[in-house]
Amino acid sequence: MAEWETHFAETGQILSKMFPVDPEETNYVRRVKNVVFSRVYPQPFKTKVRLVAVSDSALRYVLNMHPNISSDVNFVRFVAGGYLPSGSTPLAHRYGGHQFGEWAGQLGDGRAVMLGEFVNMLGERWEMQLKGSGRTPYSRRGDGRAVLRSSVREFLCSEALYHLGVPTSRAAALVVSDDPVMRDQFYDGNVLTERGAVVLRLAKSWFRIGSLEILSYNGEFKILRQLVDFVIHNYFPHISSTNPNKYVEFFREVVLQTTKLLALWQSLGFAHGVCNTDNFSLLSITIDFGPFGFLDSYNPGFVPNASDDDGRYSFEKQPDVGHFNMEKLRQALLPLLNKAQEALSQTVLDNYAEEYKKQFMCLYGEKLGLNLSVVEDHENFVAVLLKMMEDTQADFTMTFRQLGEISLAEMKIGDVNEEVWALRTLSKHKWFPAWTRMYGQLLSAQGISDLDRMASMLNVNPRYVLRNWIAQNAIAKAKVNDFSYVYKVLQILEKPFTEQPEAEELGFSGPPPYWASSLKVSCSS
Ligand code: AMP
Ligand code: MG
Repeated sequence: MAEWETHFAETGQILSKMFPVDPEETNYVRRVKNVVFSRVYPQPFKTKVRLVAVSDSALRYVLNMHPNISSDVNFVRFVAGGYLPSGSTPLAHRYGGHQFGEWAGQLGDGRAVMLGEFVNMLGERWEMQLKGSGRTPYSRRGDGRAVLRSSVREFLCSEALYHLGVPTSRAAALVVSDDPVMRDQFYDGNVLTERGAVVLRLAKSWFRIGSLEILSYNGEFKILRQLVDFVIHNYFPHISSTNPNKYVEFFREVVLQTTKLLALWQSLGFAHGVCNTDNFSLLSITIDFGPFGFLDSYNPGFVPNASDDDGRYSFEKQPDVGHFNMEKLRQALLPLLNKAQEALSQTVLDNYAEEYKKQFMCLYGEKLGLNLSVVEDHENFVAVLLKMMEDTQADFTMTFRQLGEISLAEMKIGDVNEEVWALRTLSKHKWFPAWTRMYGQLLSAQGISDLDRMASMLNVNPRYVLRNWIAQNAIAKAKVNDFSYVYKVLQILEKPFTEQPEAEELGFSGPPPYWASSLKVSCSS
Protein backbone atom coordinates (compact mmCIF):
# COMPACT_ATOMS: atom_id res chain seq x y z
CA MET A 1 0.00 0.00 0.00
CA ALA A 2 1.45 3.38 -0.99
CA GLU A 3 1.98 5.91 1.79
CA TRP A 4 -0.88 8.11 0.68
CA GLU A 5 -3.31 5.20 0.74
CA THR A 6 -2.67 4.58 4.41
CA HIS A 7 -4.10 8.04 4.88
CA PHE A 8 -7.47 6.67 4.00
CA ALA A 9 -7.30 3.40 5.89
CA GLU A 10 -10.18 4.36 8.10
CA THR A 11 -12.26 6.02 5.43
CA GLY A 12 -15.96 5.43 5.34
CA GLN A 13 -15.94 3.74 8.69
CA ILE A 14 -17.44 6.46 10.83
CA LEU A 15 -20.50 7.50 8.85
CA SER A 16 -21.47 3.96 7.97
CA LYS A 17 -21.22 2.97 11.62
CA MET A 18 -23.07 6.02 12.92
CA PHE A 19 -26.09 5.81 10.66
CA PRO A 20 -28.43 3.22 9.24
CA VAL A 21 -27.17 2.06 5.84
CA ASP A 22 -29.40 0.63 3.14
CA PRO A 23 -29.45 -3.20 3.40
CA GLU A 24 -29.94 -3.36 -0.40
CA GLU A 25 -26.49 -3.32 -1.96
CA THR A 26 -27.45 -3.79 -5.60
CA ASN A 27 -27.00 -0.55 -7.49
CA TYR A 28 -30.30 0.30 -9.16
CA VAL A 29 -32.42 3.43 -9.04
CA ARG A 30 -35.13 3.23 -6.39
CA ARG A 31 -36.91 4.89 -3.49
CA VAL A 32 -34.97 4.30 -0.33
CA LYS A 33 -36.37 4.52 3.22
CA ASN A 34 -35.18 4.60 6.81
CA VAL A 35 -31.49 5.03 6.01
CA VAL A 36 -29.03 7.86 5.56
CA PHE A 37 -26.68 6.13 3.10
CA SER A 38 -26.56 3.42 0.50
CA ARG A 39 -23.39 1.51 -0.29
CA VAL A 40 -22.28 2.05 -3.83
CA TYR A 41 -19.03 1.68 -5.73
CA PRO A 42 -17.73 4.30 -8.14
CA GLN A 43 -17.88 3.07 -11.73
CA PRO A 44 -14.50 3.32 -13.43
CA PHE A 45 -14.24 4.91 -16.84
CA LYS A 46 -13.74 2.59 -19.80
CA THR A 47 -11.28 4.82 -21.63
CA LYS A 48 -8.05 6.67 -21.01
CA VAL A 49 -8.10 8.98 -18.02
CA ARG A 50 -6.11 12.22 -17.91
CA LEU A 51 -5.34 14.35 -14.91
CA VAL A 52 -6.52 17.90 -15.63
CA ALA A 53 -5.34 19.60 -12.45
CA VAL A 54 -4.78 19.29 -8.76
CA SER A 55 -5.06 21.98 -6.15
CA ASP A 56 -1.72 22.03 -4.39
CA SER A 57 -3.20 23.85 -1.46
CA ALA A 58 -6.13 21.45 -0.99
CA LEU A 59 -3.79 18.47 -1.26
CA ARG A 60 -1.23 19.91 1.11
CA TYR A 61 -3.32 21.59 3.74
CA VAL A 62 -6.51 19.55 3.72
CA LEU A 63 -5.33 16.06 2.79
CA ASN A 64 -1.71 16.48 3.95
CA MET A 65 -0.46 15.02 0.69
CA HIS A 66 2.51 16.20 -1.30
CA PRO A 67 1.30 17.67 -4.61
CA ASN A 68 3.68 15.34 -6.47
CA ILE A 69 1.17 12.62 -5.65
CA SER A 70 -0.43 13.69 -8.90
CA SER A 71 2.24 11.76 -10.82
CA ASP A 72 1.25 8.52 -9.10
CA VAL A 73 -0.91 6.49 -11.51
CA ASN A 74 -2.84 4.98 -8.65
CA PHE A 75 -3.76 8.44 -7.42
CA VAL A 76 -5.16 9.32 -10.84
CA ARG A 77 -7.05 6.01 -10.92
CA PHE A 78 -8.32 6.77 -7.44
CA VAL A 79 -9.72 10.15 -8.49
CA ALA A 80 -11.27 8.50 -11.54
CA GLY A 81 -13.08 5.97 -9.34
CA GLY A 82 -10.99 3.07 -10.63
CA TYR A 83 -9.04 2.34 -7.49
CA LEU A 84 -10.16 2.25 -3.88
CA PRO A 85 -7.70 2.17 -1.02
CA SER A 86 -8.41 -0.88 1.14
CA GLY A 87 -10.80 -0.20 3.95
CA SER A 88 -12.79 2.35 1.99
CA THR A 89 -16.57 1.93 2.22
CA PRO A 90 -18.04 4.24 -0.41
CA LEU A 91 -21.48 5.62 0.25
CA ALA A 92 -24.16 7.62 -1.52
CA HIS A 93 -26.21 9.89 0.71
CA ARG A 94 -30.00 9.89 0.69
CA TYR A 95 -31.42 13.40 0.86
CA GLY A 96 -34.40 15.34 -0.41
CA GLY A 97 -34.99 18.98 -1.07
CA HIS A 98 -37.11 21.90 -2.13
CA GLN A 99 -36.23 22.69 -5.72
CA PHE A 100 -37.35 26.02 -7.13
CA GLY A 101 -39.75 26.40 -4.22
CA GLU A 102 -41.43 22.99 -4.41
CA TRP A 103 -40.84 19.85 -2.35
CA ALA A 104 -39.12 17.47 -4.77
CA GLY A 105 -39.03 14.34 -2.57
CA GLN A 106 -36.06 12.01 -2.78
CA LEU A 107 -32.98 13.39 -4.53
CA GLY A 108 -29.70 12.16 -3.06
CA ASP A 109 -26.16 11.72 -4.34
CA GLY A 110 -27.07 10.81 -7.89
CA ARG A 111 -23.58 11.10 -9.24
CA ALA A 112 -21.39 11.53 -6.22
CA VAL A 113 -19.96 8.97 -3.86
CA MET A 114 -18.49 9.58 -0.47
CA LEU A 115 -15.19 7.80 -0.19
CA GLY A 116 -15.04 8.41 3.51
CA GLU A 117 -13.65 10.81 6.00
CA PHE A 118 -10.14 11.85 6.75
CA VAL A 119 -8.76 13.52 9.87
CA ASN A 120 -5.85 15.77 8.92
CA MET A 121 -2.85 17.02 10.88
CA LEU A 122 -4.89 19.91 12.23
CA GLY A 123 -7.39 17.44 13.61
CA GLU A 124 -9.99 18.54 11.08
CA ARG A 125 -12.40 15.92 9.83
CA TRP A 126 -12.96 16.09 6.08
CA GLU A 127 -15.26 14.04 3.88
CA MET A 128 -13.99 13.10 0.43
CA GLN A 129 -16.32 12.70 -2.50
CA LEU A 130 -15.97 11.82 -6.13
CA LYS A 131 -18.45 13.76 -8.24
CA GLY A 132 -19.28 12.27 -11.63
CA SER A 133 -18.31 8.71 -10.72
CA GLY A 134 -21.36 6.91 -12.05
CA ARG A 135 -24.91 5.86 -11.19
CA THR A 136 -26.19 5.36 -7.68
CA PRO A 137 -29.61 4.40 -6.28
CA TYR A 138 -30.31 8.16 -6.32
CA SER A 139 -29.51 8.82 -9.97
CA ARG A 140 -33.19 9.06 -10.95
CA ARG A 141 -33.07 9.58 -14.73
CA GLY A 142 -29.47 10.77 -14.78
CA ASP A 143 -26.41 8.90 -15.99
CA GLY A 144 -24.36 9.54 -12.87
CA ARG A 145 -21.74 11.40 -14.84
CA ALA A 146 -20.48 14.98 -14.95
CA VAL A 147 -18.98 16.56 -18.05
CA LEU A 148 -15.66 18.34 -18.36
CA ARG A 149 -17.01 21.91 -18.64
CA SER A 150 -19.04 21.79 -15.41
CA SER A 151 -16.26 19.96 -13.60
CA VAL A 152 -13.69 22.59 -14.58
CA ARG A 153 -16.11 25.22 -13.28
CA GLU A 154 -16.67 23.40 -9.97
CA PHE A 155 -12.95 22.74 -9.53
CA LEU A 156 -11.93 26.34 -10.16
CA CYS A 157 -14.78 28.00 -8.32
CA SER A 158 -14.41 25.95 -5.14
CA GLU A 159 -10.77 26.93 -4.92
CA ALA A 160 -11.40 30.53 -6.00
CA LEU A 161 -14.04 31.07 -3.30
CA TYR A 162 -11.81 29.49 -0.68
CA HIS A 163 -9.02 31.91 -1.48
CA LEU A 164 -11.49 34.80 -1.37
CA GLY A 165 -12.30 33.79 2.19
CA VAL A 166 -15.74 32.32 1.51
CA PRO A 167 -16.76 29.15 3.35
CA THR A 168 -16.91 26.48 0.65
CA SER A 169 -16.29 22.89 -0.26
CA ARG A 170 -12.83 22.36 -1.76
CA ALA A 171 -11.62 20.61 -4.86
CA ALA A 172 -8.41 18.59 -4.70
CA ALA A 173 -8.21 17.08 -8.16
CA LEU A 174 -9.91 16.87 -11.52
CA VAL A 175 -9.65 14.11 -14.13
CA VAL A 176 -11.23 13.67 -17.54
CA SER A 177 -11.83 10.53 -19.56
CA ASP A 178 -12.74 9.86 -23.17
CA ASP A 179 -15.99 8.20 -22.09
CA PRO A 180 -18.83 9.77 -24.04
CA VAL A 181 -21.50 11.60 -22.05
CA MET A 182 -24.51 12.97 -23.92
CA ARG A 183 -25.80 16.39 -22.93
CA ASP A 184 -28.44 18.75 -24.29
CA GLN A 185 -26.69 21.76 -22.80
CA PHE A 186 -29.41 24.32 -23.41
CA TYR A 187 -32.39 21.95 -23.46
CA ASP A 188 -33.07 22.87 -27.08
CA GLY A 189 -32.76 19.43 -28.66
CA ASN A 190 -29.13 19.93 -29.61
CA VAL A 191 -27.55 16.88 -27.95
CA LEU A 192 -23.78 16.77 -28.04
CA THR A 193 -21.30 14.14 -26.98
CA GLU A 194 -19.08 15.44 -24.22
CA ARG A 195 -16.52 13.71 -22.02
CA GLY A 196 -17.01 12.36 -18.51
CA ALA A 197 -14.94 13.99 -15.77
CA VAL A 198 -14.62 13.57 -12.01
CA VAL A 199 -13.80 16.09 -9.30
CA LEU A 200 -12.33 14.87 -6.02
CA ARG A 201 -14.10 17.29 -3.72
CA LEU A 202 -13.85 17.84 -0.01
CA ALA A 203 -16.01 19.26 2.72
CA LYS A 204 -16.05 18.99 6.48
CA SER A 205 -19.56 17.69 5.98
CA TRP A 206 -21.77 17.20 2.96
CA PHE A 207 -25.01 17.20 4.99
CA ARG A 208 -27.57 19.61 3.62
CA ILE A 209 -30.91 21.00 4.64
CA GLY A 210 -32.39 18.32 2.38
CA SER A 211 -30.61 15.65 4.48
CA LEU A 212 -32.93 16.54 7.35
CA GLU A 213 -35.98 17.33 5.27
CA ILE A 214 -36.34 13.84 3.84
CA LEU A 215 -36.20 12.24 7.28
CA SER A 216 -38.63 14.76 8.71
CA TYR A 217 -41.21 14.53 5.93
CA ASN A 218 -41.08 10.73 5.94
CA GLY A 219 -41.63 10.54 9.69
CA GLU A 220 -38.19 9.01 10.31
CA PHE A 221 -37.77 11.03 13.48
CA LYS A 222 -35.35 8.74 15.29
CA ILE A 223 -32.83 9.01 12.45
CA LEU A 224 -33.54 12.73 12.18
CA ARG A 225 -32.56 13.20 15.82
CA GLN A 226 -29.51 11.03 15.36
CA LEU A 227 -28.35 13.06 12.36
CA VAL A 228 -28.88 16.43 14.04
CA ASP A 229 -27.12 15.19 17.18
CA PHE A 230 -24.18 14.05 15.03
CA VAL A 231 -23.95 17.41 13.28
CA ILE A 232 -24.14 19.32 16.57
CA HIS A 233 -21.56 17.09 18.24
CA ASN A 234 -19.07 17.31 15.38
CA TYR A 235 -19.52 20.80 14.00
CA PHE A 236 -21.15 22.85 16.74
CA PRO A 237 -19.26 21.53 19.77
CA HIS A 238 -20.04 24.67 21.77
CA ILE A 239 -23.67 23.53 21.91
CA SER A 240 -23.88 21.12 24.83
CA SER A 241 -25.57 17.77 24.21
CA THR A 242 -27.38 18.23 27.52
CA ASN A 243 -28.76 21.65 26.63
CA PRO A 244 -32.56 21.16 26.47
CA ASN A 245 -32.73 23.84 23.76
CA LYS A 246 -29.87 22.41 21.71
CA TYR A 247 -31.92 22.07 18.53
CA VAL A 248 -33.01 25.72 18.67
CA GLU A 249 -29.41 26.72 19.39
CA PHE A 250 -28.33 24.68 16.37
CA PHE A 251 -30.94 26.42 14.26
CA ARG A 252 -29.83 29.82 15.56
CA GLU A 253 -26.27 29.02 14.59
CA VAL A 254 -27.14 27.83 11.07
CA VAL A 255 -29.26 30.95 10.52
CA LEU A 256 -26.40 33.16 11.69
CA GLN A 257 -23.80 31.38 9.56
CA THR A 258 -26.11 31.43 6.55
CA THR A 259 -26.59 35.19 6.81
CA LYS A 260 -22.80 35.49 6.91
CA LEU A 261 -22.39 33.29 3.86
CA LEU A 262 -25.00 35.17 1.89
CA ALA A 263 -23.57 38.53 2.85
CA LEU A 264 -20.20 37.28 1.58
CA TRP A 265 -21.72 36.14 -1.70
CA GLN A 266 -23.41 39.53 -2.07
CA SER A 267 -20.20 41.33 -1.21
CA LEU A 268 -18.28 39.51 -3.95
CA GLY A 269 -20.89 39.58 -6.69
CA PHE A 270 -21.33 35.81 -6.57
CA ALA A 271 -24.59 34.23 -7.69
CA HIS A 272 -24.85 30.52 -6.86
CA GLY A 273 -27.50 29.83 -9.45
CA VAL A 274 -29.41 26.95 -7.84
CA CYS A 275 -30.17 27.78 -4.21
CA ASN A 276 -32.39 24.75 -3.62
CA THR A 277 -32.46 23.34 -0.09
CA ASP A 278 -30.53 20.30 -1.29
CA ASN A 279 -27.72 22.64 -2.31
CA PHE A 280 -27.61 24.48 1.04
CA SER A 281 -25.17 23.04 3.51
CA LEU A 282 -25.91 22.58 7.22
CA LEU A 283 -22.45 24.04 7.82
CA SER A 284 -23.33 27.08 5.68
CA ILE A 285 -20.56 26.46 3.22
CA THR A 286 -20.98 26.96 -0.52
CA ILE A 287 -21.66 23.57 -2.14
CA ASP A 288 -22.79 22.08 -5.44
CA PHE A 289 -21.45 24.42 -8.06
CA GLY A 290 -23.63 24.44 -11.13
CA PRO A 291 -24.62 27.46 -13.20
CA PHE A 292 -23.03 29.99 -10.83
CA GLY A 293 -21.68 33.31 -11.99
CA PHE A 294 -19.70 36.28 -10.76
CA LEU A 295 -21.12 39.63 -11.79
CA ASP A 296 -19.29 41.52 -14.50
CA SER A 297 -21.15 44.83 -14.76
CA TYR A 298 -23.44 45.37 -11.79
CA ASN A 299 -26.90 44.10 -12.54
CA PRO A 300 -28.79 43.14 -9.39
CA GLY A 301 -31.24 41.09 -11.44
CA PHE A 302 -28.44 38.93 -12.88
CA VAL A 303 -29.61 35.32 -13.31
CA PRO A 304 -26.65 33.03 -13.94
CA ASN A 305 -28.72 29.97 -14.84
CA ALA A 306 -30.15 30.20 -18.38
CA SER A 307 -32.83 27.67 -17.35
CA ASP A 308 -34.08 29.78 -14.41
CA ASP A 309 -36.78 31.52 -16.45
CA ASP A 310 -38.45 33.23 -13.50
CA GLY A 311 -35.17 34.50 -12.11
CA ARG A 312 -35.94 32.82 -8.80
CA TYR A 313 -32.24 32.63 -8.01
CA SER A 314 -31.15 36.00 -9.33
CA PHE A 315 -28.25 37.72 -7.57
CA GLU A 316 -30.45 40.16 -5.62
CA LYS A 317 -32.91 37.50 -4.48
CA GLN A 318 -30.31 35.29 -2.80
CA PRO A 319 -30.71 36.76 0.69
CA ASP A 320 -34.49 36.17 0.55
CA VAL A 321 -33.94 32.67 -0.74
CA GLY A 322 -31.65 32.13 2.24
CA HIS A 323 -34.61 33.04 4.45
CA PHE A 324 -36.87 30.64 2.56
CA ASN A 325 -34.31 27.88 3.04
CA MET A 326 -34.00 28.61 6.76
CA GLU A 327 -37.77 28.37 7.02
CA LYS A 328 -37.54 24.93 5.40
CA LEU A 329 -34.80 23.94 7.83
CA ARG A 330 -37.00 25.03 10.73
CA GLN A 331 -39.86 23.01 9.34
CA ALA A 332 -37.62 19.95 9.11
CA LEU A 333 -36.60 20.40 12.76
CA LEU A 334 -40.15 20.79 14.11
CA PRO A 335 -40.55 17.11 15.12
CA LEU A 336 -37.65 17.66 17.54
CA LEU A 337 -39.11 20.81 19.15
CA ASN A 338 -41.72 21.36 21.85
CA LYS A 339 -44.19 24.23 21.63
CA ALA A 340 -41.97 26.73 23.43
CA GLN A 341 -39.02 25.81 21.23
CA GLU A 342 -41.16 26.13 18.13
CA ALA A 343 -41.92 29.71 19.17
CA LEU A 344 -38.27 30.37 19.98
CA SER A 345 -37.15 29.07 16.59
CA GLN A 346 -39.72 31.32 14.93
CA THR A 347 -38.16 34.30 16.72
CA VAL A 348 -34.76 33.21 15.42
CA LEU A 349 -36.14 33.04 11.90
CA ASP A 350 -37.82 36.43 12.31
CA ASN A 351 -34.39 37.89 13.07
CA TYR A 352 -32.93 36.65 9.82
CA ALA A 353 -33.37 39.87 7.86
CA GLU A 354 -31.92 42.01 10.65
CA GLU A 355 -28.96 39.70 11.08
CA TYR A 356 -28.35 39.59 7.35
CA LYS A 357 -28.40 43.39 7.11
CA LYS A 358 -25.83 43.61 9.92
CA GLN A 359 -23.49 41.23 8.12
CA PHE A 360 -24.04 42.98 4.82
CA MET A 361 -23.29 46.44 6.21
CA CYS A 362 -20.25 45.16 8.04
CA LEU A 363 -18.80 43.63 4.84
CA TYR A 364 -19.65 46.63 2.69
CA GLY A 365 -17.99 48.80 5.32
CA GLU A 366 -14.82 46.74 4.90
CA LYS A 367 -15.14 46.98 1.14
CA LEU A 368 -15.23 50.76 1.44
CA GLY A 369 -12.61 51.08 4.14
CA LEU A 370 -15.16 52.28 6.70
CA ASN A 371 -17.04 51.00 9.73
CA LEU A 372 -20.61 50.78 8.57
CA SER A 373 -23.62 49.61 10.51
CA VAL A 374 -27.36 49.41 10.09
CA VAL A 375 -28.16 53.12 10.33
CA GLU A 376 -29.91 55.23 7.76
CA ASP A 377 -26.90 57.32 6.68
CA HIS A 378 -24.71 54.28 6.16
CA GLU A 379 -27.39 52.33 4.35
CA ASN A 380 -28.01 55.28 2.04
CA PHE A 381 -24.31 55.62 1.35
CA VAL A 382 -24.09 52.01 0.13
CA ALA A 383 -27.46 52.13 -1.65
CA VAL A 384 -26.45 55.24 -3.62
CA LEU A 385 -23.21 53.59 -4.69
CA LEU A 386 -25.01 50.46 -5.84
CA LYS A 387 -27.64 52.49 -7.66
CA MET A 388 -24.93 54.44 -9.48
CA MET A 389 -23.21 51.17 -10.36
CA GLU A 390 -26.47 49.79 -11.68
CA ASP A 391 -27.27 52.91 -13.72
CA THR A 392 -23.79 53.10 -15.26
CA GLN A 393 -23.36 49.30 -15.52
CA ALA A 394 -20.06 49.67 -13.76
CA ASP A 395 -18.04 46.51 -13.29
CA PHE A 396 -18.75 45.10 -9.82
CA THR A 397 -15.35 43.66 -8.93
CA MET A 398 -13.20 46.39 -10.44
CA THR A 399 -15.27 49.33 -9.18
CA PHE A 400 -14.58 48.35 -5.58
CA ARG A 401 -10.98 47.49 -6.35
CA GLN A 402 -10.33 50.80 -8.06
CA LEU A 403 -12.08 52.79 -5.34
CA GLY A 404 -9.20 51.53 -3.22
CA GLU A 405 -6.58 52.34 -5.83
CA ILE A 406 -7.04 56.07 -6.12
CA SER A 407 -7.21 58.80 -3.53
CA LEU A 408 -10.42 60.49 -2.57
CA ALA A 409 -8.92 63.75 -3.84
CA GLU A 410 -8.49 62.22 -7.30
CA MET A 411 -12.07 60.96 -7.19
CA LYS A 412 -13.33 64.39 -6.24
CA ILE A 413 -11.66 66.00 -9.24
CA GLY A 414 -14.05 63.85 -11.22
CA ASP A 415 -11.86 63.25 -14.24
CA VAL A 416 -10.90 59.72 -13.35
CA ASN A 417 -8.01 58.31 -15.35
CA GLU A 418 -8.93 55.91 -18.18
CA GLU A 419 -6.79 53.16 -16.73
CA VAL A 420 -9.13 53.09 -13.77
CA TRP A 421 -11.76 51.99 -16.24
CA ALA A 422 -14.54 50.72 -14.00
CA LEU A 423 -14.40 53.69 -11.67
CA ARG A 424 -14.29 56.03 -14.63
CA THR A 425 -17.59 54.53 -15.79
CA LEU A 426 -19.06 55.07 -12.34
CA SER A 427 -17.73 58.62 -12.11
CA LYS A 428 -19.91 59.69 -15.03
CA HIS A 429 -22.97 59.38 -12.81
CA LYS A 430 -24.48 62.70 -11.77
CA TRP A 431 -24.56 61.66 -8.14
CA PHE A 432 -20.86 60.79 -8.08
CA PRO A 433 -19.58 64.16 -6.79
CA ALA A 434 -22.12 64.24 -3.97
CA TRP A 435 -21.34 60.63 -3.11
CA THR A 436 -17.58 61.28 -2.89
CA ARG A 437 -18.33 64.21 -0.57
CA MET A 438 -20.37 61.88 1.62
CA TYR A 439 -17.45 59.41 1.53
CA GLY A 440 -15.06 62.12 2.73
CA GLN A 441 -17.39 63.10 5.56
CA LEU A 442 -17.76 59.50 6.77
CA LEU A 443 -14.01 58.99 6.68
CA SER A 444 -13.26 62.08 8.70
CA ALA A 445 -16.08 61.37 11.15
CA GLN A 446 -14.50 57.95 11.74
CA GLY A 447 -10.95 59.31 11.87
CA ILE A 448 -9.79 57.13 8.97
CA SER A 449 -7.03 58.54 6.79
CA ASP A 450 -7.29 58.18 3.04
CA LEU A 451 -4.11 56.10 2.95
CA ASP A 452 -5.48 53.69 5.54
CA ARG A 453 -8.73 53.49 3.61
CA MET A 454 -6.91 52.56 0.42
CA ALA A 455 -4.62 50.03 2.07
CA SER A 456 -7.43 48.22 3.84
CA MET A 457 -9.60 48.15 0.73
CA LEU A 458 -6.94 46.38 -1.30
CA ASN A 459 -7.02 43.52 1.18
CA VAL A 460 -10.72 42.84 0.83
CA ASN A 461 -11.64 43.79 -2.72
CA PRO A 462 -10.29 41.17 -5.12
CA ARG A 463 -8.68 42.12 -8.38
CA TYR A 464 -9.43 38.71 -9.89
CA VAL A 465 -12.55 36.57 -9.66
CA LEU A 466 -13.64 33.58 -11.73
CA ARG A 467 -15.54 35.48 -14.37
CA ASN A 468 -17.53 33.33 -16.78
CA TRP A 469 -15.34 34.28 -19.69
CA ILE A 470 -12.22 33.19 -17.81
CA ALA A 471 -13.80 29.84 -16.95
CA GLN A 472 -14.91 29.53 -20.57
CA ASN A 473 -11.36 30.02 -21.86
CA ALA A 474 -10.12 27.38 -19.44
CA ILE A 475 -12.85 24.98 -20.61
CA ALA A 476 -12.19 25.58 -24.31
CA LYS A 477 -8.53 24.70 -23.90
CA ALA A 478 -9.22 21.75 -21.60
CA LYS A 479 -11.57 20.33 -24.22
CA VAL A 480 -8.56 19.90 -26.53
CA ASN A 481 -6.47 18.49 -23.68
CA ASP A 482 -4.53 21.66 -23.03
CA PHE A 483 -4.85 21.86 -19.27
CA SER A 484 -2.27 24.59 -18.75
CA TYR A 485 -4.86 27.37 -18.67
CA VAL A 486 -6.91 25.64 -15.94
CA TYR A 487 -3.79 25.48 -13.85
CA LYS A 488 -2.87 29.07 -14.62
CA VAL A 489 -6.32 30.34 -13.65
CA LEU A 490 -6.13 28.32 -10.45
CA GLN A 491 -2.75 29.81 -9.59
CA ILE A 492 -3.94 33.36 -10.24
CA LEU A 493 -7.13 32.91 -8.24
CA GLU A 494 -5.15 31.58 -5.31
CA LYS A 495 -4.02 35.18 -4.79
CA PRO A 496 -7.07 37.20 -5.77
CA PHE A 497 -6.00 40.31 -3.86
CA THR A 498 -2.48 40.50 -5.29
CA GLU A 499 -1.73 42.18 -8.58
CA GLN A 500 0.01 39.64 -10.82
CA PRO A 501 1.76 40.50 -14.11
CA GLU A 502 0.53 37.35 -15.85
CA ALA A 503 -3.06 37.97 -14.84
CA GLU A 504 -2.80 41.55 -16.06
CA GLU A 505 -1.45 40.34 -19.40
CA LEU A 506 -4.34 37.92 -19.71
CA GLY A 507 -6.75 40.78 -19.12
CA PHE A 508 -8.22 39.38 -15.89
CA SER A 509 -8.61 42.85 -14.39
CA GLY A 510 -9.67 44.52 -17.62
CA PRO A 511 -13.11 44.99 -19.13
CA PRO A 512 -14.55 41.58 -20.09
CA PRO A 513 -14.25 40.72 -23.80
CA TYR A 514 -17.24 41.59 -25.99
CA TRP A 515 -18.38 37.94 -26.12
CA ALA A 516 -18.59 37.59 -22.33
CA SER A 517 -22.10 38.96 -22.05
CA SER A 518 -23.47 36.39 -24.48
CA LEU A 519 -22.13 33.42 -22.50
CA LYS A 520 -24.83 31.20 -21.07
CA VAL A 521 -24.65 28.46 -18.48
CA SER A 522 -27.40 26.05 -17.58
CA CYS A 523 -28.16 23.28 -15.08
CA SER A 524 -26.97 20.72 -17.60
CA SER A 525 -23.73 19.42 -16.25
P1 AMP B 1 -27.77 19.47 -8.81
O1 AMP B 1 -28.73 20.44 -9.36
O2 AMP B 1 -26.58 19.18 -9.70
O3 AMP B 1 -27.36 19.77 -7.41
O4 AMP B 1 -28.53 18.07 -8.80
C1 AMP B 1 -29.81 17.84 -8.25
C2 AMP B 1 -29.97 16.36 -8.04
O5 AMP B 1 -29.89 15.68 -9.30
C3 AMP B 1 -28.94 15.73 -7.15
O6 AMP B 1 -29.58 14.76 -6.39
C4 AMP B 1 -27.96 15.14 -8.12
O7 AMP B 1 -27.25 14.07 -7.56
C5 AMP B 1 -28.86 14.72 -9.27
N1 AMP B 1 -28.18 14.71 -10.56
C6 AMP B 1 -27.80 15.79 -11.29
N2 AMP B 1 -27.20 15.41 -12.42
C7 AMP B 1 -27.19 14.05 -12.43
C8 AMP B 1 -26.72 13.05 -13.33
N3 AMP B 1 -26.11 13.36 -14.47
N4 AMP B 1 -26.91 11.76 -12.98
C9 AMP B 1 -27.51 11.44 -11.84
N5 AMP B 1 -27.99 12.31 -10.97
C10 AMP B 1 -27.83 13.61 -11.24
MG1 MG C 1 -27.02 19.45 -5.75
